[in-house]
Amino acid sequence: MSITPLMPVYPRCGFRPVRGDHCHLIGEDGRRYLDFAAGIAVNILGHSHDGLIKAIQRQTETLMHVSNLYGSPQGERLAQRLVDLTFADTVFFTNSGAEAMECAIKTARAYHQHVGNDHKFELITFNNAFHGRTMATISASSQEKMHKGFMPLLPGFKYVPFDDLEAAKAAVGPNTAGFMVEPVQGEGGIRPASEAFMEGLRALCDQHDLMLVLDEVQCGVARSGTFYAYEQYGIEPDILATAKGIGGGFPLGACLATEKAARGMVIGAHGSTYGGNPLAMAAGEAVLDAVANDEFLAEVRAKSDRLRSRLEQFIGNYPELFELVRGKGLMLGVKMKFEARGFVGHLRDNHQLLTVAAGDNTLRLVPPLVIDDSHIDEFFDKLSAGAASFEPPEVPQ
Ligand SMILES: *Cc1c(COP(=O)(O)O)cnc(C)c1O
Repeated sequence: MSITPLMPVYPRCGFRPVRGDHCHLIGEDGRRYLDFAAGIAVNILGHSHDGLIKAIQRQTETLMHVSNLYGSPQGERLAQRLVDLTFADTVFFTNSGAEAMECAIKTARAYHQHVGNDHKFELITFNNAFHGRTMATISASSQEKMHKGFMPLLPGFKYVPFDDLEAAKAAVGPNTAGFMVEPVQGEGGIRPASEAFMEGLRALCDQHDLMLVLDEVQCGVARSGTFYAYEQYGIEPDILATAKGIGGGFPLGACLATEKAARGMVIGAHGSTYGGNPLAMAAGEAVLDAVANDEFLAEVRAKSDRLRSRLEQFIGNYPELFELVRGKGLMLGVKMKFEARGFVGHLRDNHQLLTVAAGDNTLRLVPPLVIDDSHIDEFFDKLSAGAASFEPPEVPQ
């Protein structure tokens, strides 16, 4: 047999973390790595946050899991907090981002089909989006590399260029149920949508009675410098999917919706065995305790400004490697002159700095939101050394 016990769908590298220490990871060989990847924007409180650890420990000893057939004081509490913090009136808890997106897609379709508009099933999505790896969420993405081998796709998605309001407008037809968009594309290359685009989508939704579905799985939960990124666009969605940061490392996601948008989500319409169990709710509450306040959010913005302005200065030293910096909050991308994967590997293996590659030649920086100036200094020490010692690949002109 040559297949590995872990199904070989990931190109796993040689670094094998066994322990976390605040904003560092320690490998099997004892070496320390500065973690500006944070489990891909997940560990927003770092790896040893006292409040999160204690909350999970306490809840484990009290009650881990019960059925959603029972009343849930834990779920009601976290849902109420999310309702108070956002546009939403109601919340469905999931265990992952893709599941939160599945619920969002079902909610958007059900909004129309609940009142007999069965032909309104099509969601307009955007090129290079990433919404997850289930059949519906790969179908929602234009990226063919995720489709290969898994045909046929789920019908009902139409792709248009990102941040192109005219294209979005032209795509609206009799079957349109709504738009589904990441306010800041993550996997696609840390690309923030423009204000005019987001405002325009909102206006089109209002005009045609469509659902505006936001995928804030990566950019949500304080990552962008506000609790959710939509706040920075002066608009509100009808439906929003959140995950990654919201559990701080514990598997947790949620689909948030207004009362109007959730009109089709009636008894029996949806479900999840684990979704919203008391252990997940305890983790979610501990994360909100830490991040859902003005002081923490202002800190994220201040750290973002410091990291970003230093990055912008820094890349000027290496015009042959770097092109520009983009993103929001502590979700920053450095567009490189070539595929970023090689540089990410070089930083990891030779300088013990963890980052993530993203689409469009982007070096993605999504550190824990609790980094301080010492981590930013350490980051630039490693990045400088890494840039100085890197041999750029031959790029065809
Ligand atoms: C990671 C991600 C998802 C999928 O989340 P999973 O927890 O991996 O299912 C969906 N949308 C966006 C924008 C993401 O970054």
